[in-house]
Amino acid sequence: MTLISPWRADFPGLLALDREGQTYLDSAATAQKPQTVLDALLAYYAGGAANVHRAQHLPGERATRAFEATRDKAARWLNAADREDIVFTRGATESLNLLAYGLEHLFAAGDEIVVSAAEHHANLLPWQQLAARRSLKLVVLPLTPQGDIDLQQATTLIGPRTRLLAVSQLSNVLGRRQALHTLIQQARDGGALTVVDGAQAIVHGRQDMQALGCDFYVCSSHKLYGPDGVGLLYGRRGALQRLQHWQFGGEMVQQAGYLASTFRDAPLGLEAGTPPVAGVIAFGAALDYLGSLDAQAIGNHEAALHRMLLAGLHGYAGLRLLGEPETALACFTVDGVHSGDLAHLLTEQGIAVRVGHHCAMPLLQRLGVNGAIRVSLALYNDESDLQRFFAALDKALELLR
Ligand SMILES: *Cc1c(COP(=O)(O)O)cnc(C)c1O
Repeated sequence: MTLISPWRADFPGLLALDREGQTYLDSAATAQKPQTVLDALLAYYAGGAANVHRAQHLPGERATRAFEATRDKAARWLNAADREDIVFTRGATESLNLLAYGLEHLFAAGDEIVVSAAEHHANLLPWQQLAARRSLKLVVLPLTPQGDIDLQQATTLIGPRTRLLAVSQLSNVLGRRQALHTLIQQARDGGALTVVDGAQAIVHGRQDMQALGCDFYVCSSHKLYGPDGVGLLYGRRGALQRLQHWQFGGEMVQQAGYLASTFRDAPLGLEAGTPPVAGVIAFGAALDYLGSLDAQAIGNHEAALHRMLLAGLHGYAGLRLLGEPETALACFTVDGVHSGDLAHLLTEQGIAVRVGHHCAMPLLQRLGVNGAIRVSLALYNDESDLQRFFAALDKALELLR
């Protein structure tokens, strides 16, 4: 009996791709959306769009209520202490750029920012730019061969000059869950701020901010089965208040004058202008959808598919995995085969996988490869997707060798 996802039929986009003969194995880049998310988007527009936080009228009140309900849902999903710890942004990338700008005033020349070698560009370049602006030193934590942050080396690299630690909880290339507790504790004990990039980790289950203990956490809706153009920034009480205001305009102002103005506190003080109202409401629908499913069953399904993926890949001579992925993805190269050529042949057979540097160019350089293929799975994938992938891989490698 082949493994079938009980949730596949909830995703019209995936069914449409099926009809087109496309096998979608790129969910780590963006996930397909369940019908309930599409319904929520349509309901907002078809039911009468209205701006939030301003209007007294019924549609405005309704939109504000639905928009703010997502703040409650996100706070519960993250076990944040307070709904006001959640700031809506346009995505994880914007959240990280907001942080790198908003915290700039806290840094002095010579301070150190610590990241890991496995960061997505979104959690590297904003800090690199900040380091250049303020003459800071960027310190990179090395990885073990499996792909974990080397905690022993981290102990010596996180030191008295460390002002900020910014690390991803789960790499989009290596698929390793990082043990961040000790790192975060160590950084905080030394007086550093801590930022966790949860863009991949949150896809695999609820997170507990109070247990994790970080100051800031970022993620995107679109990888979590919600619409794109929406993300969030979590900041523990007091941490958000240290961010300087960054975008100025409507709604973030307390008292505006021609020559000077005063601004609101977070979260609304960091949400200038009209937000993506429909997107935020539909993000709430994505959280409702996931919350209605059996998390254990999803975890088991993804783990079973992942074991099949790894077992299948191990059968190919000369195929090299990057790291030892623990979650629903695998990045690999094949000796003597150009990844671009291989990806081209897979694409021609309707297999939607990712090829290239996966927004982690320095990591791939460090691993000694200039491109790799990534297969990533989500709760809606079936064993049949993997069977089609392996059949296409056989054919492609036959042609290339
Ligand atoms: C996708 C991703 C990001 C960036 O998210 P956007 O939605 O593109 O803003 C950051 N970090 C990791 C680990 C990611 O996978």
